[in-house]
Amino acid sequence: MSTLATVAEAARRELGSGFNGELTGPEDAGYAEARKVYNAMIDRRPALIARPADAEGVAKLVGFARDHSLDLAVRGGGHNGAGLGTCDDGVVIDLASLREVQVDPQARTVRVGGGATWGEVDSATGEHGLATPSGIISTTGVGGLTLGGGLGHLTRKCGLAIDNLLEAEMVLASGERVRVSGDEHPDLYWAIRGGGGNFGVVTSFEFRLHEVGTIIGGPTFWPVEMAAEVLSVYREFLPAAPRELYGFYAFATVPPADPFPSEIHLRKVCGIVWCHVGGEDDAAREMAPLLDALPEPLLHGVQPMPHPALQSAFDGLYPPGDQWYWRADFVNEVPDAAVDLHARFGADLPTMKSTMHLYPIDGAAHDLAPGDTAWSYRDATFATVYAGVDPDPANAEAVRRWTVDYYEALHPYSAGGAYVNMMGEGQGRVRASYRGNYDKLARIKGIYDPDNTFRINWNIEPEG
Ligand SMILES: Cc1cc2nc3c(=O)[nH]c(=O)nc-3n(C[C@H](O)[C@H](O)[C@H](O)COP(=O)(O)OP(=O)(O)OC[C@H]3O[C@@H](n4cnc5c(N)ncnc54)[C@H](O)[C@@H]3O)c2cc1C
Repeated sequence: MSTLATVAEAARRELGSGFNGELTGPEDAGYAEARKVYNAMIDRRPALIARPADAEGVAKLVGFARDHSLDLAVRGGGHNGAGLGTCDDGVVIDLASLREVQVDPQARTVRVGGGATWGEVDSATGEHGLATPSGIISTTGVGGLTLGGGLGHLTRKCGLAIDNLLEAEMVLASGERVRVSGDEHPDLYWAIRGGGGNFGVVTSFEFRLHEVGTIIGGPTFWPVEMAAEVLSVYREFLPAAPRELYGFYAFATVPPADPFPSEIHLRKVCGIVWCHVGGEDDAAREMAPLLDALPEPLLHGVQPMPHPALQSAFDGLYPPGDQWYWRADFVNEVPDAAVDLHARFGADLPTMKSTMHLYPIDGAAHDLAPGDTAWSYRDATFATVYAGVDPDPANAEAVRRWTVDYYEALHPYSAGGAYVNMMGEGQGRVRASYRGNYDKLARIKGIYDPDNTFRINWNIEPEG
């Protein structure tokens, strides 16, 4: 097949009427829309974008891509910063039609289609006062976030997303459909809990749910000039706080919109975004040692709210279509020299949406050992993410520059690897990010995907 249009034609012919779903090629109306992913810096032109309606369709598409030796990308929510949910010239399996969410409030589980977004999960589970750990933006895909680990507001209390993954249904490179759990294909169950999309297409996930109804959440902001002082207190306070209290440290520019008071609109700030699972009195008591150790903040916007409300609080600020440039690192500690560097780069945020977050990795995330799942950095204290963001493509180079400079200045203080879901340029860091788990992952990859059919990801090369 020589042209991109030929691939779509061949798919229609070969998959025929037995294929349940949509096939879109470059000649088709809707191609321009279908090929977009969340990060507008990613501009790829697949030969075929296929939206199967069921797992059988997924299996047929995997076979089609293999038969024609085409690159194969799998797209969940399309959020990946490096654009791992799409590819040039190959086949994209877009799972957007597999988004059913079924809650079992008695068993406290939720079954979720492989293409669902976290907002869909949170609103369905939230109706029962239940939740499972995920990320901080509701439009992120369940697929990519889970397979890479899953850090969020409930990490300290309930662990990573993968720590609550009970089972998954998958389509393997062979086209075989399997159920994966502690009892069935336990090697795969181990590998998909952190190993990304390397092992097959997950068509459904089942997660454990926790009682999480109203949480106490929101931001506390100080002027960015106080960044070093706030971070110095935060780095000691948070790891010692009870598991019910989560708070990530951030640099931000206050959006010029409600609910922020107009006098702080567009001010550069440092701060903490909180989520306390429990009552208001407990939250106030547990935050007090940090708040008492610091001067009066510009804003203490902490209040009771339903868990799904906090989960979608940043959605308006970060709609699809912005330019994003990502870098990341795990850190064990934040020494004084690193604090000073953070303060310097935080004061220099290049655009309103650019940010740095320090996500806590402790509490329940530390209950597992590095080898218990593929996600190896159980002993890290924080995951740092540097994200240069702006809607205007003319600022792409400015946000990229700031992100790279910031990352390079802080990287000497890192633990070595990075959280794979937040790496912007990562293939060279894959081994360091899986550390002692890499060789086992490569062996499992060699069993289930020896030809590396699933290679549009932070790739683990099959052994053997
Ligand atoms: C605004 C924003 C906020 C974020 N916040 C958080 C956060 O709070 N916590 C956190 O942990 N991460 C966060 N992330 C990072 C996020 O986890 C990754 O971007 C993740 O890759 C997104 O998953 P996706 O399904 O949307 O992405 P996609 O681009 O669709 O896919 C990413 C990778 O996962 C694979 N994949 C996706 N679904 C499946 C599936 N069903 N079966 C097999 N492979 C699959 C793809 O093949 C690809 O390799 C955030 C990202 C963004 C853009």
